[in-house]
Amino acid sequence: MADCVFCKIAEREIPSAVVYEDEDVIAFRDLEPQAPVHVLVIPKKHLESVLDFGKENKVLAAHILADVIPEVAKAQGLSAKGFRVVTNVGEEGGQTVKHLHFHILGGRSMQWPPG
Ligand code: 5GP
Ligand code: ZN
Repeated sequence: MADCVFCKIAEREIPSAVVYEDEDVIAFRDLEPQAPVHVLVIPKKHLESVLDFGKENKVLAAHILADVIPEVAKAQGLSAKGFRVVTNVGEEGGQTVKHLHFHILGGRSMQWPPG
């Protein structure tokens, strides 16, 4: 989608520190990390949020959750001590980039509830 920063990252028009890539998904380090490890996992296809997954993207949703997030977390050394997965949706969810993304945060203790 035009003017979407994450589409541009997926298309390698904007550089990022990529830690994982396959045909449908790319994961890269957050520009402003909130934890020692802060990776964003996104579908290459432009979907705005989890609200857009729908039935037609079930395979993609399962791939991200069942394959990619665990693989990235393990590769980043987070599986032993644990980590957090967050996806922000819309205004009150604190979503600033309107391209679906999952934050993987780790390397420190997380607080609950979040702010
Ligand atoms: P949100 O607030 O929408 O859940 O998260 C958006 C995240 O994208 C933020 O943590 C922000 O730091 C990150 N971000 C925004 N623009 C860029 C960029 O151009 N490159 C990278 N690597 N991260 C970005
Ligand atoms: Zn996009």
